[in-house]
Amino acid sequence: MILKLLIFVLVGLAVYKFFGGKFPTLGKTKEEKKVEEDTLVECEKCGTYVTLKESIVVNGKHYCSKECTKKIS
Ligand SMILES: [Zn+2]
Repeated sequence: MILKLLIFVLVGLAVYKFFGGKFPTLGKTKEEKKVEEDTLVECEKCGTYVTLKESIVVNGKHYCSKECTKKIS
């Protein structure tokens, strides 16, 4: 019984690795989210490119740091 369970786990891991460590359906949404976060956006003030994740959004515009958001006014 335990041996069967072990084989089942090993087969599961083999399938898991076959898909590159992620399942097609579940991994796709994760991948898309990761790509979105890594998308580079240009700072509205100084033109520096920062990732979407690191950027600060003010009034729908992206900024690289709080310093740049302050200088708008
Ligand atoms: Zn900036």
